[in-house]
Amino acid sequence: MIERATLQNVQGEVKRYWGYDTLLPMQERAMECVLHGRDSIVILPTGGGKSLCFQAPAVAMPGMAVVVSPLISLMKDQIDSLTECGIAAARIDSSQSPLERETVIEQIIDRELKLLYVAPERLISDGFIRFLHRVPLSLIAVDEAHCVSMWGHDFRPEYRRLGRLKTEFPNVAVHAYTATATEQVRHDIAHQLHLANPEMLIGSFDRPNLVYRVRRRSNAVEQVCAVLDRHRNESAIVYSIRRADVDQLCVKLSQRGYRVAPYHAGMSPEERKRNQDAFIAEEVDIIVATVAFGMGIDKSNVRAVIHTGMPKSIEHYQQESGRAGRDGLEAECCLFYSGADYGIWSSILQNGESVKAREIALSKLNDMYNYCTGLACRHRGLIVYFGQDLTGESCNACDVCLEEIDSMDGSLEVAQKILSCVIRLGERFGADYTAAVLTGSRDRRILARQHDALSTYGLLADFTKNTTRGWIEQLAGQGALKREGEYSVLCVTEKGWRVLRGEERPALLSPAKKSIAVSKGAIDAWEGVDRGLFETLRGLRKNLASRKNLPAYIVFSDAALRDMARRRPSTRDAFLQVRGVGRVKAEQYAPLFLDTISEYSRAHTLPMDVHPGRGHPV
Ligand code: ADP
Repeated sequence: MIERATLQNVQGEVKRYWGYDTLLPMQERAMECVLHGRDSIVILPTGGGKSLCFQAPAVAMPGMAVVVSPLISLMKDQIDSLTECGIAAARIDSSQSPLERETVIEQIIDRELKLLYVAPERLISDGFIRFLHRVPLSLIAVDEAHCVSMWGHDFRPEYRRLGRLKTEFPNVAVHAYTATATEQVRHDIAHQLHLANPEMLIGSFDRPNLVYRVRRRSNAVEQVCAVLDRHRNESAIVYSIRRADVDQLCVKLSQRGYRVAPYHAGMSPEERKRNQDAFIAEEVDIIVATVAFGMGIDKSNVRAVIHTGMPKSIEHYQQESGRAGRDGLEAECCLFYSGADYGIWSSILQNGESVKAREIALSKLNDMYNYCTGLACRHRGLIVYFGQDLTGESCNACDVCLEEIDSMDGSLEVAQKILSCVIRLGERFGADYTAAVLTGSRDRRILARQHDALSTYGLLADFTKNTTRGWIEQLAGQGALKREGEYSVLCVTEKGWRVLRGEERPALLSPAKKSIAVSKGAIDAWEGVDRGLFETLRGLRKNLASRKNLPAYIVFSDAALRDMARRRPSTRDAFLQVRGVGRVKAEQYAPLFLDTISEYSRAHTLPMDVHPGRGHPV
């Protein structure tokens, strides 16, 4: 009889193949479910390490694991990664030639594979199910399981038919993995997949390695460049709402010397694929895209995600910004918004299918807008939205907690001046015009209407129009003002009247801009790392990857390269201590990397075989 694999066995495999000494939070419990054959639903944010939850037990258990995945690109990425680690994995999909498929079928029959990736429509076809009955299965993993639910953001009808698996393979446990956390989606997954009393494992949705910053958009190109300059030669994604903005921004960035490519639905599929591949192969650093870009991108070392416009919901923001820092290293998410974005989305949402759908969409848009204009911790804002909370007072990783922005002492007075001006203008003008009046503009229209004679004219003349405009957005975001009608004229709300009476105190941002602070996460992740050596190793990785036609991050993650540049191993054993170096990778790459490291260390008189200090995150 074959003995059952234990957690200890699995941890041994994790070290042997992946080179990790420890498991991430939740991975241990998720793996235990797999080992005990208990159905499970595992909800972890992007970068939470979901794949290892089923891949490592699959290696330790007898039989072959079947993994359902919605996209060929995702399957390919995971199989490349597994193969690089020395694990027998393959896929069957429609893009393969008959010969390729035949080879995989033979591998399955010969019981050579530990993991097989398939698309849902193939998996539930009669012929394939009959075929699978011929081989012992260790587990069934359903990746991106939210695709099962109409409430998820990426519903795929063929996922619904996966319920059949439980009837066909009653003795094989089914495990569902997703980053989408809502109650409805969770419930739907259990129901549609016919899971038997599944263990529900929900990780923290916070991504402590991401630094969130939100600013009002003033000059998008300058603002985007400022972020990109903090990440020279690193990968970044810039999201814009409209295709035209994507094209324009791309031209401007490339004129300034950035290595950039566009991506949107108006381009041909070939062009899109070419640009996506160039980004993955690190031939370009930056993709400027509409939200059409991202699904199926597992690139783990994206160091910045920038939005030049406000997304239409926090769910969308979480998903798009979540593409930063999947490798757990520090990364930055910057959102530049304006009140106009709110206008664009609300007019698009007017075309919703039903009154109810429009109401839901509008309420999500309002939550997003409040997130932008609010002055509370961004990490907390995001995870509270998903029904969780942060422990500790400060996240130390957002513009608010890093004190890059300050709330102003005289917020109440400034707010009252703005609200009075809106009333003096008869609640008939928009934000831009109101800001112009408040700052004492000599604009023709203001003079013609004699608004320079109002008592509120020039009350904020000490500040710029842009700053005043920002305060108006903040008051709208905090519910003291609302926009009405076709021209988005400003009106004072009930809450606004309470502010005017001094019964409520809004918080407005101080105009004094502080410089960008460095988060603790960023300091820790670079501690002891020689940056020059890191860059040298990055170059080596890029060459190797392009020779093998693999994405660079599959050869080694950035985290592994930083650990090499920190420890500077001189022997193969020391190389195996690096986080993310398993045996097969060591066999393949140790000689080249060790040579480069020792040459660099000698040239720069750096000590080698350094042990990271105690308490270090590695
Ligand atoms: P998800 O599918 O949840 O987005 P991934 O499975 O892609 O996450 O894992 C995210 C990153 O974390 C990958 O680079 C992976 O290699 C790394 N990772 C996973 N488990 C561990 C671990 N136990 N220790 C260190 N890194 C890990």
